[in-house]
Amino acid sequence: MLTRTLIKVRGIVQGVGFRPFVYTLARKYNLRGRVSNDTAGVVIEVEGDPCVIERFLASILHSPPPFAHIDAVERRDNLLPVNFPDFRIDASTSTGLPQTSISPDIAMCSDCLNELFDPSDRRYRYPFINCTNCGPRFSIIEGIPFDRAQTTMRDFEMCRACRSEYENPSDRRFHAEPIACPDCGPELLLLDARGRAIPCSDPIAEARELICRGAIVAIKGLGGVHLSCNALDAAAVEGLRQRKFREGKPFAMMAKSVNEIAKYCYISPAEAELLSCSASPIVLLDRKPGAGIAQAVAPGVRTLGFMLPYTPVHHLLFEGLDLPLVMTSGNVSDEPICYENEDALERLRDIADYYLLNNRRIHMRTDDSVAAVRSGKTSSLRRSRGYAPMPIRTAFSFERQVLACGAELKNTFCIARGEYAYLSHHIGDLENVETLRSFTEGIEHIKRLFDLRPEVVAFDLHPEYLSTKYARKLALQDNALELVGVQHHHAHIASCLADNEAEGEVIGVAMDGLGFGSDGKLWGGEFFVADFRCAERIAHLDYIPMPGGAQAVREPWRMAAVYLHRAMGSEFLNLQLPFVESLDRKTWQYLRRMMDASLNCPETSSMGRLFDAVAALMNLRGSILYEAQAAIELETIAEGRITDGYEFEINCDGVIRAEPVICAVVDDLLDGRPAPEVSAGFHAAVAELILRIAIDARDGRGLNRVALSGGVFQNALLFELATLRLAEAGFEVLTHHRVPANDGGISLGQAAVANAR
Ligand code: ZN
Ligand code: ZN
Ligand code: FE
Repeated sequence: MLTRTLIKVRGIVQGVGFRPFVYTLARKYNLRGRVSNDTAGVVIEVEGDPCVIERFLASILHSPPPFAHIDAVERRDNLLPVNFPDFRIDASTSTGLPQTSISPDIAMCSDCLNELFDPSDRRYRYPFINCTNCGPRFSIIEGIPFDRAQTTMRDFEMCRACRSEYENPSDRRFHAEPIACPDCGPELLLLDARGRAIPCSDPIAEARELICRGAIVAIKGLGGVHLSCNALDAAAVEGLRQRKFREGKPFAMMAKSVNEIAKYCYISPAEAELLSCSASPIVLLDRKPGAGIAQAVAPGVRTLGFMLPYTPVHHLLFEGLDLPLVMTSGNVSDEPICYENEDALERLRDIADYYLLNNRRIHMRTDDSVAAVRSGKTSSLRRSRGYAPMPIRTAFSFERQVLACGAELKNTFCIARGEYAYLSHHIGDLENVETLRSFTEGIEHIKRLFDLRPEVVAFDLHPEYLSTKYARKLALQDNALELVGVQHHHAHIASCLADNEAEGEVIGVAMDGLGFGSDGKLWGGEFFVADFRCAERIAHLDYIPMPGGAQAVREPWRMAAVYLHRAMGSEFLNLQLPFVESLDRKTWQYLRRMMDASLNCPETSSMGRLFDAVAALMNLRGSILYEAQAAIELETIAEGRITDGYEFEINCDGVIRAEPVICAVVDDLLDGRPAPEVSAGFHAAVAELILRIAIDARDGRGLNRVALSGGVFQNALLFELATLRLAEAGFEVLTHHRVPANDGGISLGQAAVANAR
């Protein structure tokens, strides 16, 4: 019996070798028909024996190509046969709504690596080698379906050899849209600081040589331009810091292999796997002391961020190079990463000595992703290249399309439809015009790619966030749009639920720097009973003034003084602690008058500020050079046996007082207890606080599931202590994996809450 079946496959099925895979399989089963891309995914028509079609379909579902991700399959069986002469791959059709998922950029595969270094291959040492399993995707896509004409590769006309590979279903470059070779593809350009071409036969070898001699070279990669220098060369790294106006914040590095990285860091098998995965993120690793990395690469922190080469350019650069290289975003301080040649030459002109660029355009900039292994599992710290725009599948369905505008710092936005939330790549801190432009253009691009027309716009309650202002502006332009304000920490908890494909009520623990509270105060040490719809605040750190507002964030010593004053009054000025002895009394008196008059002293319940205060009172750091630096350094020194000496006071109204902890820390410091133990004790106290409140909530509400979210949980020690204690007490603990716990994950939570309202 002969029948025809029509199958529509949805998910990440374009640009990942899906059609040739189907083609080969159909040939194997002797089925006739056709396969093509449409705007929603892949459409397959086959005719033959129904049992054979069944086996064919099972093979597709059970072992799809490595980077494919099937979300849904629709099929219509028992159609009348049309007598296809053979099985073939048809041209893409662009009818219908774009609904397909777009593949993220994929690190170079091992087949391409072999060819790259095979002298007999026609792409021997060709820096833009790629195939159906690897290469640029999201960063070069201008529209869908994913066809060469809809990518920046349309600038290059395929040569005959490439075209025959591209058209040959049994070739591993069959419909590899970015296919290229030395005869027809992109080329490297080596330029000097003033943008003049440097004539040379091997630009990569030249760039390598320049780096070895101490130069800073701007190198264009997949999603943008890196600034690179020798990470063992103190003068080069310090020079880079000065020119980039980046004080203190760690630089990421790239090294040739896992073995090479192992010279500088401890690497677990899970970490090695994360380093080598196709997304190729920066992985935070514990550093080995005294391994020779220049001090200025990552001052004052326990970890180093490393990634492996992920483009052919990187692999060629590291040929014979046994040095780790700094690979930091090509930008000035907090601006977005450069991705266009002209722009790089302009904006990096006071930083880079040389430029290793190329003429393949990047359409969408994507920063490197950052991840770490926490308690044996991957935890995303910045989700961008290699992950975006892979949708996050949710346990529920979005009734209407939602655009969530995210937070101010580490912004991402999110557009959701059906069971998918399209979380954007990392946009950055919305504090300058450049980043804001990147935000608005990013939204337009994603809307266009997936043909999304949001009906609901979710935003943070903070009136001054630029993302909030953007949402309000949208609503003014289109009064059919519904606006939903979502409290910052409710969004954090909702994000954690969605990250885990969970729903329903949880005990939500949100700890971070600052987020606008529903009472107009700045929250950040919050306990809720929450679901997507609402969040009931059951406990929080007591409010404390932040004299000078944002200045108190930059100067943790202010928080230490305020906490000490709160705990022991003006007596604290007599303490024989280095912090107190070196305190600027005049400024302190000035701050006191500000507080008495309630002038520019917003009140906060932030856990981040409490970490700052403890770090400052231990004299670790009075003012910071980058976000959360004091807290990171407090975590870095923690060591030794943890004794539960410190205890928060929880009042019956759920207000948590930190003063007893502050007093105990002071006593221990006066007694000469080593700082590493004091730090460890403080972390343990916070973990214990979380456990106590969770137990109260379990007793009172019968809930046994705890969701941990907010930037403070990027503190590995607190994360481990809290998850361990909660698990030991029998709680089910939800933590972040696919989406960052910090404000980079907020937009997903906003979308989920807006949908539930
Ligand atoms: Zn490949
Ligand atoms: Zn070619
Ligand atoms: Fe936050």
